[in-house]
Amino acid sequence: MINLKKIPSMDEILIQEEIKQLMVRYKRDYVVQTARTAVEEIRESLRKINTEIEKKAILTSIIDSIKLKAENDDKGTLQRVINGTGVVLHTNLGRAPLGARALSHMQEIGRNYNNLEMDLETGERGSRYSHIEGLLQKITGAEAALVVNNNAAAVMLALTTLAEGREVIVSRGQLVEIGGAFRIPEVMKLSGATLVEVGTTNKTYISDFSQAINEATALLFSAHTSNYQIIGFTSEVPMSELVSLGQKQEIPVFLDLGSGIISSLLPDGLKKEPTVQECVQAGADIISFSGDKMLGGPQAGIIVGKRKYIEQMKKNQLLRALRVDKLILAGLEGTLLEYLSAYPEENLPINKMLAATQEDMEAKAEAFLSILKEQLSDIPILVHNQTSPAYSANELLLELQKVALEDMVGGGAYPNHKLPGAGVELEFKHISLEQAAAKLRQGKLALVARRQDNKMLISVRTLLAGDELEIAAMIRELLLNPSRK
Ligand SMILES: *Cc1c(COP(=O)(O)O)cnc(C)c1O
Repeated sequence: MINLKKIPSMDEILIQEEIKQLMVRYKRDYVVQTARTAVEEIRESLRKINTEIEKKAILTSIIDSIKLKAENDDKGTLQRVINGTGVVLHTNLGRAPLGARALSHMQEIGRNYNNLEMDLETGERGSRYSHIEGLLQKITGAEAALVVNNNAAAVMLALTTLAEGREVIVSRGQLVEIGGAFRIPEVMKLSGATLVEVGTTNKTYISDFSQAINEATALLFSAHTSNYQIIGFTSEVPMSELVSLGQKQEIPVFLDLGSGIISSLLPDGLKKEPTVQECVQAGADIISFSGDKMLGGPQAGIIVGKRKYIEQMKKNQLLRALRVDKLILAGLEGTLLEYLSAYPEENLPINKMLAATQEDMEAKAEAFLSILKEQLSDIPILVHNQTSPAYSANELLLELQKVALEDMVGGGAYPNHKLPGAGVELEFKHISLEQAAAKLRQGKLALVARRQDNKMLISVRTLLAGDELEIAAMIRELLLNPSRK
């Protein structure tokens, strides 16, 4: 308590040269507010100290704290993260990283004025929804298309437009909840449609659907059970049967595909699900999927299908609240254009990561290990199965080796499918794994990796160009200055 009286007044703080400098760069109000917070915090810590502290030292620590706070605020909070988890579509890490063409298109459209809602042929007002439609028609073969904010919005729009106040038949085995609290029953309720559950959790037959049809039936609905799989004694209605029932009864069939696969270049194990094109061809009336899952684009909800239904959705007032932004349209257009190219797997990071074979991953892990070994050559580390200089157990800071790993698609796609991968396993010797992981997450650049049995596992599948060198620098910094933040 003896130091509290030495806390300088706000006026005194604000006339300090370093604070005046800050006010050249930042708004005065913001600096004053930051100074108040800094003083408050220092007052709190001084309360606990019973030894004399010089007034000058208190002022200095207040100034340092203000500067540090301003510096931190200036970074923002959304930042780049290196994904070492091997989960390709990691929802917490922003799902699909975008391809070069999507990014450059977003820059061009974002930086300039553009024809978002102008028809340049007539000079009249145009529709933002016209831009991507032609491309989606060409790629999927559908009659019409519409893009909204995300797939949850797409499902909402389709249900509200086509089934409000009426009934929608769904198999009990598909009453899914997708990450981020998207629950089919809840969405159904919000949309004003009545959910009619048929079949059982593990078995639903086409007869269950046909028996439930009546005059109030608006849609036959099928949701992709993206993030779980009922294994064993199960039976779901094949899409083709649902489509023929819908056609016979003249009731539209709506497929919420979740991921929506367009690429025909997926590795064998990932080919078992029907592509969007196949669903269109089979005659599904409305199909929805996300822009940022298997498609590899920005967050968006894509609806393709029969023109008469899409036209009704375009007229729904709700669309105004779900509409996509020009940057998203630019990113999506840039992404979809890659699907017209002969090598979409080359230019879309997601496709490239998913198509990578075990041999590709082995080679990438080997190269990563070499980079680590080289960048840390002057530090006491042990690389297993390679000749490294000998250090005593006491000196060693890190042991590492190449390991085989199982990667995942993620994003609620292919819940049980493991991609054979590889990576590097690190065992920190002088700090705990908890500490190491926290430091690597909280530095200037963040690394998120897997942990297992007190070891850190970095999968190379999800590393983007240049990440390896940056990880090496981060680990170097961590080993040399384990206590510095
Ligand atoms: C992911 C998913 C959604 C939600 O999509 P968002 O684009 O995240 O809104 C809806 N339905 C299914 C089946 C999904 O897999």
